[in-house]
Amino acid sequence: MRNLNEMKITELMISSEKVAHVNMNNPLEHAMLVLIKSGYSAIPVVDTTFKLKGLISMSLILDSILGIERIEVERLENKVVEDVMNEEVPYIHENESLSKGMRLSIDYPFLCVVNDEGIFTGILTRRAILKHMNRYLHEMNRESVRPT
Ligand code: AMP
Repeated sequence: MRNLNEMKITELMISSEKVAHVNMNNPLEHAMLVLIKSGYSAIPVVDTTFKLKGLISMSLILDSILGIERIEVERLENKVVEDVMNEEVPYIHENESLSKGMRLSIDYPFLCVVNDEGIFTGILTRRAILKHMNRYLHEMNRESVRPT
C-alpha cells in the first residue's frame, strides 16, 4: 500500500457524478430539497458549464430567510442559490498530492476537486483520507511485527 505522498487526489475522490450538487441558477427551494433528501449539511454549487462556484448549506438558507420573530418561508420563492451560496469554497486541484489534500482537510470535512479549467470533478472527504490512513497504518504495523 502506498503512502499519501505518492498518491493523486483522483484515487480517493468521489467523482462528481456521485456527488449531490446544485446549479447556481436553481431556486433556493430546490437546494433545500436536495440537502434534505441527501442528508448532507453542505453541497457544491456549479454553473451551467459545471465550473465550481460555491457551497450551499441548510444553515445559509435558513439564515437568509430568518425574520425577527420567525423563519419567513415565503421568502424562499424569490431567491436562487447564487443569492445565498458561500463563494469561499475550499478546493484543491486534481493533480495535487493527497498529502496536500490531507493538510487542507484538517479544517474542512470535504474539499471540492477541480481540473485546469476550474471544472468541478469531485470531492475529497476527510473520511476517505482517514479510511486510507487507517488501512495504511494497520499494514505498516503488521509488517513491523512480521517474523523475518
Ligand atoms: P462524509 O465523509 O460522508 O462524512 O461526508 C462529509 C461531507 O462531505 C458531507 O457532510 C457532505 O457535505 C459532503 N459529501 C460527502 N459525500 C457527498 C455526496 N455524495 N454528495 C454531496 N456531498 C457529499
